[in-house]
Amino acid sequence: MRRGAVLILLACLPFLASCAIIPIVKPATAQSPSGAVTRTRAQMLMGTMVKITAVAPNEILAQAALTAGFQEIRRLEQMLSTWIETSELSRVNQAAGQEPVSVGDETFALLSKALEIAEYTKGGFNIAIGPAVRLWNIPEAPRIPSDMELEIAAQYVDYRNIHLDPTRRTVFLEKPGMKIDVGGIGKGFAAEKAAAVMREVGATGGLVAVSGDLRVFGKQADGTAWPIVIQHPRQPGKVLATLEATDEAISTAGDYERFFIQDGVRYHHILDPETLQPARLCQSVTVIAPDGTTADGLDTGVFVMGPVKGMALIERLGLGAVIVDVEGRITVSSRLRDRVRLGQ
Ligand code: ADP
Ligand code: MG
Repeated sequence: MRRGAVLILLACLPFLASCAIIPIVKPATAQSPSGAVTRTRAQMLMGTMVKITAVAPNEILAQAALTAGFQEIRRLEQMLSTWIETSELSRVNQAAGQEPVSVGDETFALLSKALEIAEYTKGGFNIAIGPAVRLWNIPEAPRIPSDMELEIAAQYVDYRNIHLDPTRRTVFLEKPGMKIDVGGIGKGFAAEKAAAVMREVGATGGLVAVSGDLRVFGKQADGTAWPIVIQHPRQPGKVLATLEATDEAISTAGDYERFFIQDGVRYHHILDPETLQPARLCQSVTVIAPDGTTADGLDTGVFVMGPVKGMALIERLGLGAVIVDVEGRITVSSRLRDRVRLGQ
């Protein structure tokens, strides 16, 4: 999702040059003076383009890190996708209103984090939003749901009706018809986990981009930090801001990738849980946090809260954000002001 929301530029020029012509990096052009190699692969997973770059002491380790990163994302997709009937989350949804379902540690941790972010964002981030997401069905078969449909869906989107039991490690959805949707946090979680396995395999640096949810670790082969480009939400191909990152996650939520326009109104995929209509206060929100799960959950939640309340939350949490409000005004959190360069 959010294909192209964030463009990733890899600073080392030989790599960029080869990247423009051949998607898979040629060994000779990606060799650094230190002997470290940089390799990149891209693949469709989780319904979106996943691009992973690994820096490692040699070819074998770099390739192994890439393979391990993709395998990890594939594993998590099987666990979390609500489009896969046998996934843990699908089983939780199927048992809504009936019984608690026991889940693995990872699913439990993700759901716990999601509910924590729901509290931080005063319900702006809400994984119980599933029934409304299905109604809008953006971008697959977009149409504006009727008021009555939305009123019915509203009865099933209260995240306080999601019950987690840490002792039994079970999840129970109180009402039949409830549906958890981790579309707003799962890709950041996957990027986080993929980066961790790449490190275990021997990568010294890497960048995992699950669409616009990025996780970087270590440095590039030439010893520099990873350059990150945030896309302008209204001018395709134009740069909104750039920054350099190491060992952190950068996640962007925007209204410009998954949307349709009807009668001059833009309808997009981030819903305000209060109204079940597309959230109206922002065009794009980029959050920088130590881990991918937090960055991804918060980009969606802050988008719903809007620039004022959203930025106040980011400041209170000591994190970073670049917010473009509905008028196109840009605000940068205090921690990022020295790091972010606006424009090209
Ligand atoms: P993207 O899917 O483009 O990475 P986000 O991280 O903002 O962007 O997630 C948007 C997705 O999150 C939607 O497609 C939907 O599945 C889900 N979603 C929509 N509104 C909310 C919300 N208020 N809280 C939590 N998840 C949401
Ligand atoms: Mg998100």
